[in-house]
Amino acid sequence: PDEQLVPDPSKKNLVILGSGWGAVSLLKKLDTENYNVTVISPRNYFLFTPLLPSCTTGTVEHRSIMEPIRSIIRHKKAAVKFYEAEATKIDPERKTVLINDNSDIKGDTSTTEVPYDMLVISVGAENATFGIPGVREHSCFLKEIGDAQQIRKKIMDCVETATFKDQTPEEVERLLHMVVVGGGPTGVEFAGELQDFFDQDIKKWVPEISDKFRVTLIEALPNVLPMFSKQLIDYTESTFKEEKITIKTKTAVKKVTEKTVEAEATGPDGKKVTEVMPYGLLVWATGNAVRPIVKDLMSQIPAQKDSRRGLAVNEYLVVQGTKDIWATGDCAVAGYAPTAQVASQEGAFLARLFNNMAKSEAVEAKIAELSQTLNLQPGDTAAIAKEIETHEKQLRRIKDIKPFHYTHQGSLAYIGSERAVADVSWLNGNFATGGQLTYLFWRSAYLSMCFSTRNRVLVVLDWLKSKAFGRDVSRE
Ligand code: FAD
Ligand code: NAD
Repeated sequence: PDEQLVPDPSKKNLVILGSGWGAVSLLKKLDTENYNVTVISPRNYFLFTPLLPSCTTGTVEHRSIMEPIRSIIRHKKAAVKFYEAEATKIDPERKTVLINDNSDIKGDTSTTEVPYDMLVISVGAENATFGIPGVREHSCFLKEIGDAQQIRKKIMDCVETATFKDQTPEEVERLLHMVVVGGGPTGVEFAGELQDFFDQDIKKWVPEISDKFRVTLIEALPNVLPMFSKQLIDYTESTFKEEKITIKTKTAVKKVTEKTVEAEATGPDGKKVTEVMPYGLLVWATGNAVRPIVKDLMSQIPAQKDSRRGLAVNEYLVVQGTKDIWATGDCAVAGYAPTAQVASQEGAFLARLFNNMAKSEAVEAKIAELSQTLNLQPGDTAAIAKEIETHEKQLRRIKDIKPFHYTHQGSLAYIGSERAVADVSWLNGNFATGGQLTYLFWRSAYLSMCFSTRNRVLVVLDWLKSKAFGRDVSRE
């Protein structure tokens, strides 16, 4: 085996679960020389989620927003181990994680245990369905690369099936009705991208369906994008009207079947009416739910009894009621929204914390060594005592780590037809802007946030390609 990969017994085993925003930003800033670092994730790449909605229509190709974890860890100073596996159980007493290779190809060993001294849980969240019947069986989610690919295929499948010979008018109408459930940023961005795809490309190649393709966005609350300011909510709603996307607010989906969505709409008089909407494609974007591994760990820790949305953490991101376990991102409850911005700042905070912990341990060891010398040398001790004092001062400085503090840089969302909305904090002020300039800002902001130069170049090329030649309408 690679010599570099043999764990150093003098270092602690730091195990990181996940390869998303939290885990990768920790890895990026972590000085890996201080620990035996192991990363475990069923996905051997980092995914730049902000551009995932653009992958559903081919504005951006999926590989342009993926960064292999192998290339991320190879760039670290000291070797990092990676296991492509799902963590299925954490035992905080024995300090072990059970992992399972759930990929198609399995070797003789596909389940094993990994011991840890320090554990970081950054497994994100899964899709919320609220137990609504039919959702899992019939709708597409929009969280992973595979989801975006499935949606891309289905859009064109609906279009081709709608133009099949002798299709009845009702069936054509159903097949070309694209329903999006959830008016958070995922649902809004996807609806915008989908309408763009239709307006800019599908319409051109399949003109016979021009007046039949419809996008409907369903939201249970009185408005979409609740995290944006009122002015931008209004701007989004009026842009959607122009784009001919129907927004149905105060409408909660209660049931999904293979071809219909059943929703309960609350009218202005407060009366509830049930609506049945036939659909061709259904995209479900109603937010996050807690992953089973996180739920299981919570059930083992009495201090987590009252936590509902994930692992309650303290201001240093330590999982409440545990020792040596930290959590970041969507699986942690630290009082912030489940966003990439929060997860990446939390990951970077833990990297600083762990780098500091290693440094202070080194200084403590040095102080212990000097103290021993001091005891053994009864002669001139002033110089040694002075050195100890200097180290103690240094130690106090290192140990003085401020708790995690989140800095909100703003909220950005694409809303279709080359317009975006932004609530940005800048120079102590808040700016709410929407429109085409904001769209350019959105593009440049997301580009600068991409993981690597390689990703950045690929995304720009994809944008140019889809602008010059149109998006590809072949169904893979
Ligand atoms: P993730 O990034 O989801 O990573 C979780 C990781 O854990 C993955 O690698 C996963 O494979 C792995 N994992 C899962 N289960 C296990 C297991 N059992 N064992 C080991 N590993 C496991 N936020 C923004 O701030 N701005 C945006 O523009 C934005 N756009 C978004 C667009 C979309 C379509 C979506 C879905 C989300 C968007 N978000 C955005 C939210 C953002 O993506 C999340 O908040 C962020 O990904 C959370 O980071 P995380 O590290 O907690 O989880
Ligand atoms: P969300 O939780 O923000 O929104 C889900 C929406 O679905 C809610 O408004 C909810 O009222 C609605 N809903 C729930 N059940 C429903 C039902 N049965 N019928 C109709 N509507 C229903 O979820 P999201 O959009 O997936 O976002 C998840 C997280 O990721 C958020 O924190 C968000 O800020 C972040 N994110 C950010 C961006 C961005 O900044 N551009 C993009 C995507 C996601």
